[in-house]
Amino acid sequence: MTSAGPRIGIFGGTFDPPHVGHLAAAVNVRHSLGLDLVLLVVANVPWQKVGERPVSPAADRLELVRLAVGDVEGLEVDDREIRRGGDSYTADTVAELLEEDPSSEVFVIVGSDAAAGLPTWERIDEVRARSVIVVVDRPGGTWGPPSGWRTERVEVPRLEISSTDLRARVADGRPLDYLVSPSVVSGIERLGLYRDRR
Ligand code: NAP
Repeated sequence: MTSAGPRIGIFGGTFDPPHVGHLAAAVNVRHSLGLDLVLLVVANVPWQKVGERPVSPAADRLELVRLAVGDVEGLEVDDREIRRGGDSYTADTVAELLEEDPSSEVFVIVGSDAAAGLPTWERIDEVRARSVIVVVDRPGGTWGPPSGWRTERVEVPRLEISSTDLRARVADGRPLDYLVSPSVVSGIERLGLYRDRR
């Protein structure tokens, strides 16, 4: 399916916190696939993570993503899942974007771990029917799509940075510099995030 409308990437995440691995993936996918825009969509309630660990307030995570993205060309922060409230389902986000502009072509961007969990997503059939799934993979990665999916695989020099490690660093008093944008370092400090938990 091709469309004459804008090519929009949805890069969704809990972003607790956002780091340079997320940003590098977003800009490289945009470049590789010639997307007009990549939206960093901040999950309101990442329902599959609830109960696993405390998740920072959505407003704080949104602020950090705004600080991280700054004025990078072609990236935009999107708060629709927070405004929608409740559990965050990518199927609803895809549907909303297509309602706003039915001519657009939507690309759902995921890392390779997230890709492995796609079959467990709410209304995944809808996501699969209405978007192209883009998997951000390490060089030499082996993720293969289930048959019948429209997919793209974009190889990026994946940076071995994880939000889990970053939270542990704050709790232990280790530095975050160069792993997240300087403005995000200040934002985490100002908001008092991750000091006593991982
Ligand atoms: P996250 O932990 O904040 O990660 C956001 C994305 O960045 C993931 O795709 C992750 O892939 C990728 N990533 C993390 N570190 C990276 C690095 N160093 N380099 C490149 N990519 C990196 O967010 P999440 O909680 O997994 O959620 C991802 C999205 O899936 C959200 O939009 C969420 O709402 C959606 N989701 C939807 C449903 C549903 O609709 N029912 C269910 C589950 C998740 P990896 O996981 O491979 O690291």
